[in-house]
Amino acid sequence: MDANYEENSPALREACGIFGVFGTENAASEIYNGLFALQHRGQEGAGIVVSDGEKVRSHKDRGLVSEVFSGYPMERLSGHLGIGHVRYSTTGVDRIQNIQPLVAECSDGIWSVAHNGNLTNAAVIRRMYQKAGAIFQTSTDSEVLVHLLSDPMFRLRPQRVGRTLGELEGAFAFLIMNKNSIMGARDPHGFKPLSIGRKENEWFLSSETCAFGHSNIEYVRDVEPGELVVIDKNGLNSSFFAERTRNLSQCVFENIYFARPDSLVFGRNVHEVRVQYGALLAKQHPVDADLVISVPDSGNSAALGYSRESGIPLDYGFIRNHYVGRTFIMPNEKARAAGVDMKLAVLAEVVKGKRIVVVDDSIVRGTTARRRIDALRKNGAKEVHMRISCPAITHPCFYGIDFPTKEELIAGNRDTNEVCERVGADSVGHLSVENLLAPFENRRNFCTACFTGDYSVEVTGKKGKKILEKHG
Ligand code: 5GP
Ligand code: MG
Repeated sequence: MDANYEENSPALREACGIFGVFGTENAASEIYNGLFALQHRGQEGAGIVVSDGEKVRSHKDRGLVSEVFSGYPMERLSGHLGIGHVRYSTTGVDRIQNIQPLVAECSDGIWSVAHNGNLTNAAVIRRMYQKAGAIFQTSTDSEVLVHLLSDPMFRLRPQRVGRTLGELEGAFAFLIMNKNSIMGARDPHGFKPLSIGRKENEWFLSSETCAFGHSNIEYVRDVEPGELVVIDKNGLNSSFFAERTRNLSQCVFENIYFARPDSLVFGRNVHEVRVQYGALLAKQHPVDADLVISVPDSGNSAALGYSRESGIPLDYGFIRNHYVGRTFIMPNEKARAAGVDMKLAVLAEVVKGKRIVVVDDSIVRGTTARRRIDALRKNGAKEVHMRISCPAITHPCFYGIDFPTKEELIAGNRDTNEVCERVGADSVGHLSVENLLAPFENRRNFCTACFTGDYSVEVTGKKGKKILEKHG
């Protein structure tokens, strides 16, 4: 949006969850369950849009899935197909318009879209339509797809949806819906995950397979990079709107942190990958210590791997309070610090007098590490060695993971020794990029830009240039 309007919601940072259903008696309740299982992917807002073949109905609001639909009469959302979304943004909660799925009335009916990822040419497309007179309702990058879909240049042509998707650059898993069908698509680089599930004649599309298990939905396969699947009364129809890129840019941070451990992401179980990271970390950065503890929950699987490989016993050094929200996105350092203290209590009886290896998945600003190391020492820990199951995060992400500017990233302009000093550890060890990719058959198929600065897709337009300049 224009510089004269302050939205405080950097649309450039979103990593959300999407879930779609076709062919079930009660689509809304299936979507509710799906979104509930994807809640870790976004806690700021949730929405469901359904259709009964004639009428399209929706409900969305700020808050957790359970909050948004608590007390809402679900029977109002009758229909046999639909899509849903859980939203993660940094501070854009104040605008309800930004909550997805976006719903728009085109000349040929109502269309809805739900997006996970970040489009790098959205600003350019937006400008183009605005110059031609279009009015945008939200400040999200996702809205450009709605405008493309209703544009007569695409609307009146065959393969309309595929053609519009072909205009988009950057990272996307999209769910698109009209009154008779749901569609799923992944960008040709394959940044974001999207899986297909099936239960007899019912079809499902989900960001993660963890949303299939509790409903006995069978995992069929992933939507391929560049593929568009259309699901309607004739079943699933596949086509390709773009050729997949030779090397994919699958987001490795899904494996490190974002996805749930029970999900299958990019062909591998997330927990197993993280356990392997922990084992590789133990080989790469061994240390003489008495105890391995994890920073729950994100460090759990890697801590297990570290303990198994090193032979150092694993114990619970922190007890997590599950009722503290995400400290990561709190607006200032003071609030984040207080949040971390409340969220992770030290079990003094376990850590006292011990040399401790603390395993976490990542250090971003360093708030968690600094506060918890301090607390461990106050509770009598003799030595604290931080082991991180990903490389140092040195660059911002333009494809949907919420990393702040280079200045705010603790490793943005510091080497490991400086980071170690700053967080107050006896030593810090990061997993190498090579080890990060070791669990996968084709190591070239991952985006590691936040660790290396190798961006496979550039952010285009003036806005993009500005961002890149700012981030260096
Ligand atoms: P820091 O405290 O260093 O800023 O953040 C690191 C902690 O935040 C780690 O425990 C990690 O699990 C978590 N984290 C890393 N990336 C993200 C993210 O994109 N979103 C949220 N909510 N948490 C994150
Ligand atoms: Mg964490």
